[in-house]
Amino acid sequence: MKSALFLRILSDLVLPQHCAGCGDALLFNRGSIFPVCANCITKIKRIKGKRCPVCSIDLVSEDDICTRCRDKAFYFRKNVSLFVFSGLIKELIYQYKFKKVKPLAHFFVRELFMNWQSYNGNTVVVPVPSRPRKGLRKNFMHLEYLSGILKKTYKINIRNLLGRLPGRQMKGLTREGRQLNISGRILLKSLQADLPESVILLDDIFTTGATANECARVLTDAGVKQVDVFTIAMEY
Ligand SMILES: [Zn+2]
Ligand SMILES: [Zn+2]
Repeated sequence: MKSALFLRILSDLVLPQHCAGCGDALLFNRGSIFPVCANCITKIKRIKGKRCPVCSIDLVSEDDICTRCRDKAFYFRKNVSLFVFSGLIKELIYQYKFKKVKPLAHFFVRELFMNWQSYNGNTVVVPVPSRPRKGLRKNFMHLEYLSGILKKTYKINIRNLLGRLPGRQMKGLTREGRQLNISGRILLKSLQADLPESVILLDDIFTTGATANECARVLTDAGVKQVDVFTIAMEY
């Protein structure tokens, strides 16, 4: 036992993990499964206070529904986002998605699970499908990977019901452009006889809601009665 502890201390000193946020060496962090230091976690900007009941943006001067949701009908009932997509959380999502820092998935999963208000044992979670990339470079299916951990660690009922056709990246497109770009690209994977009555769609970032809305449209057209959306961060 003592030698195991000694080896752990030695390996921490020789090959320390580094915080994905500030880059500091995470000495004696082996007990934690994700590489973010405690100091960085406190700096992440969470969405709290009065929110729009539809998209979950924090309300400043509005009383009820925010201006962007007021004249828009979504196929989903509401979205809940945990963080503001800026600063450290933007960096962590970037590192997870594009640099494949896979242990960060444990951090997101923990946050999602701790804040899962409308989840009960019967709720079915459907990950928003990642955009397939053309060519030989296979992309990292980051939401599928995250869902796998949710299923394994927290026994969340996950069903990969949706698929996505290749298309342009959503980044940089206007609200209308996003809508056009995603329209018709989300498909039900196969005709499912036992579709759930209600689902929670899981995505990383909520921007205009175009992708979530298209997924919700496909699911409701197929017979799902209620779709809620749960996202890690909200991009303003
Ligand atoms: Zn840090
Ligand atoms: Zn809103």
